[in-house]
Amino acid sequence: MKKFFCIFLCLALIFCSTAVSIQAEEESPAYEWDGHPLIFIQGYSGPKLIRDRGLETEEQVWTFDPLDVTGKVITYLPDIVSSVIDYANGDKEPFVECFRNFTAEWLDNISMNPDGKSKYNISSYPYYLDEANVEYINEEQNGKYLPMTEGEFIEDLSRTIPENRIYIFNTDWRRSHLDNCKHLMQFIDEVLETTGSEKVDLYGMSHGGQLVATYLYYHGTEGKVDNAVMNSPAIGGTSLVMELLGDDPVAFDLNELLRFGGVMLHTELDLRWLGDMLPAELLNSLLKTAFNEVLLPYAIHFGSIWDLMDTETYTKLRDVYLDPVENAEIIAKADEMHYECMPNMSEGLKKAQEAGVSISILANYGSHIGTGKKVDSDFIIDTLNTSGATPAPFGERFAKDYTQLGTVCTDPAHNHVSPTRTIDASTCFLPENTWFNYEQYHTQTWWDVYTRGLLLKLVLTDDIKDIYSDPEYPQFEIAQSPLDGVYASFNGNQPSGFYSPSSDTITLRNLSRTAIEIQSVKINGKAMETDGKVKLDSDETFNISYKPEDKEFIAVEIRYISKGLFVSSDPYSRTIYFSGIR
Ligand SMILES: [Zn+2]
Repeated sequence: MKKFFCIFLCLALIFCSTAVSIQAEEESPAYEWDGHPLIFIQGYSGPKLIRDRGLETEEQVWTFDPLDVTGKVITYLPDIVSSVIDYANGDKEPFVECFRNFTAEWLDNISMNPDGKSKYNISSYPYYLDEANVEYINEEQNGKYLPMTEGEFIEDLSRTIPENRIYIFNTDWRRSHLDNCKHLMQFIDEVLETTGSEKVDLYGMSHGGQLVATYLYYHGTEGKVDNAVMNSPAIGGTSLVMELLGDDPVAFDLNELLRFGGVMLHTELDLRWLGDMLPAELLNSLLKTAFNEVLLPYAIHFGSIWDLMDTETYTKLRDVYLDPVENAEIIAKADEMHYECMPNMSEGLKKAQEAGVSISILANYGSHIGTGKKVDSDFIIDTLNTSGATPAPFGERFAKDYTQLGTVCTDPAHNHVSPTRTIDASTCFLPENTWFNYEQYHTQTWWDVYTRGLLLKLVLTDDIKDIYSDPEYPQFEIAQSPLDGVYASFNGNQPSGFYSPSSDTITLRNLSRTAIEIQSVKINGKAMETDGKVKLDSDETFNISYKPEDKEFIAVEIRYISKGLFVSSDPYSRTIYFSGIR
């Protein structure tokens, strides 16, 4: 009964916080449009897939109608419940059988042959130019084909670019990027011809960012692209895919998964009680079994799966799962990606830059990978694979006397080490054109003021040439969505996460849309005076006097609770790190 009461209160809280957000949301700025159409490239599995388009048997086979899924779950519910009980008692077979039957039709529809070509006549949708622009999608399709997590960002972009000049590029995400690249080339040519523009701008998210990088590697010198912006691109793959395909068990942390979901849904709801209630070990085991026993035989024929891992893992798993004769086409494309494109990405992107393309990469860091692997990431993609930066071993920091590796940026006057002392950006594909956001989750784009502002400016203007162009957007920043709770910065004029010799005050700011109560602040483990408890309304600040010692590394740990209208959350804790300006 208590739980139901709790759910009721939580729902009430959602409605209240939504009301607050409607009032507080600021409109993004509009810029002067430079006339370039924008091509927006979605993340993995975003684009819909249609079987037999134009024929009588036409059917959408990806993604699924939630009502269909719900109906199927209800039909299968008795089987699901009994097979999970069997599973918990040590008998895995009924669950595998149940999951296989449950997904059989869906998986068959999107399956690929051993040569990496589609088993059925499948096309991505929208496919043709006139049905892929945002004006058409909004007017004719009620916005139905806009990317789920980036819809608001497209709305922001349309304050500057006319909606009929923003194109959503949909491609068959099951294929290798070598195939997708040809499709993108053709699409860019069609956009240029239709709009009469000389160049396009490209924006790619995640897997779409990997496609932008691949396109620039092969075609970046052809003079068709002005600005190319990649948001957490999977350039070197992601440990998430490698973990699912590998032998080790996965260890999703349910509370962190719920928090990640909260970011996607833009809610600050505290659902940790739910995560604590769920049987994490059983769910992780069910997921791994379902993947290995049922999904894997399909996944290995998707060219995209092999693009989404690092070269070492690819070489190892290729020899386990792919047959040199039967899967020769898949292997040839993946080999090309791993032994030609990926290892030479930095040089390829630089050539594109020299040919006039303005390239920007946004990377995130500070979280482990969702499957539990301790590597620096934004929960979905490794920071290393996104940016080429060198991370410290997860949970550790570079030593005090660490010198940046300087393999790509060789300028001794540059400091590319993050204030957390966990990221060395001097080894990035493009050290001067890569930005990092600490503790930002994948897909948090629009909800984070820094990322949202930076991305808009990068896509829509030519004002930002590199990480030094705009003091508002330094190379390293700290995530600032409402769910991140508190922000901290030193006084004095220096980039986020750094202090200068004149700094003597730390300002805490409430990022949440509701009031928070700061329970304690510790600096390098020492409790600071906060007048007992400090209540901060949304956006309100609070100062703490602190004079850093010479070259001191500072950890500010803030413990707070979120004060809703009816209930308060359990305590949250955020630690923000500072280094001295060199
Ligand atoms: Zn540099």
